Amino acid sequence: MKVEKTIKSIRRLVKAARIAGKKIGFVPTMGALHKGHISLIEAAKKKCDFVVVSIFVNPTQFGPKEDFKKYPRPLKADLKMCRKAGVDVVFAPTPREMYPAENLTWVNVEKLSEPLCGKFRPRHFRGVATVCTKLFNIVLPDVAYFGQKDAQQAIIIKRMVADLNMPLKIVVCPTVREKNELAMSSRNQYLTTQQRKDAAFIYKSFQECRQMIKQGVTDSKKIITAMRKILRQISSSKIQYISIVDAETLQNVDKIAGKVLVAVAVKVGSTRLIDNILIDAAKL
Ligand code: AMP
Repeated sequence: MKVEKTIKSIRRLVKAARIAGKKIGFVPTMGALHKGHISLIEAAKKKCDFVVVSIFVNPTQFGPKEDFKKYPRPLKADLKMCRKAGVDVVFAPTPREMYPAENLTWVNVEKLSEPLCGKFRPRHFRGVATVCTKLFNIVLPDVAYFGQKDAQQAIIIKRMVADLNMPLKIVVCPTVREKNELAMSSRNQYLTTQQRKDAAFIYKSFQECRQMIKQGVTDSKKIITAMRKILRQISSSKIQYISIVDAETLQNVDKIAGKVLVAVAVKVGSTRLIDNILIDAAKL
């Protein structure tokens, strides 16, 4: 497995693979890899001949009071996991390599970036869309893999690729969970043992939601109230949002009929956790 730190060297390697007729799969990450990331790599390995993983903690998607500095960066362990998973190349650039000068050009996916996490992380998705554009331009993959765990991000990237005619396919893979159903996340390592236990209430709130819809409840407000009751059981937590939205437009749905995205963001202590499930009311 190769590890490249410069744009020039990663471009050279991918170009050689492309000339050799290989299909290029790409998994962008911020490192601190876990089984969720590995599932994306496995999906890429299945369909592509050459798999590139980027490890880059992107400064432009963090707010000034967020955890950019303390975000975990266990590069050695990450590389070991990538090697084991059969990755061909890891691209691990420095912030200077990615942003050599003040960045003046931004990709902003309007409307989709505003609700849900956008309300609490004002310029987050601008940073995500911009760094993904840069990474896509550097790697030029045929397919890029994203996790359903970050549902809003996946929807935004899909829309950006469509709107800007970017020549790649976006594949979204299911959320990988811990035994207690807590969605795996690099930020889970900030949690204490008790907080990790409590965080299971997030998935319990989804189960309640699914059950209510199955029983015929269509009023989102009623369901959100029931979910809030469950989430309140997480000690020292602050609910940022519980939303039931259209799975494509991310607009609030008042009366549930078809496909909805049920998404929550909760601060547990100082750790911000997000999770979601997709429900098709017609198929329950
Ligand atoms: P991150 O390193 O957190 O930026 O995540 C990199 C990619 O892995 C994103 O596409 C995430 O949605 C995806 N990902 C993170 N956690 C999970 C998970 N538990 N299951 C599936 N995909 C995930």
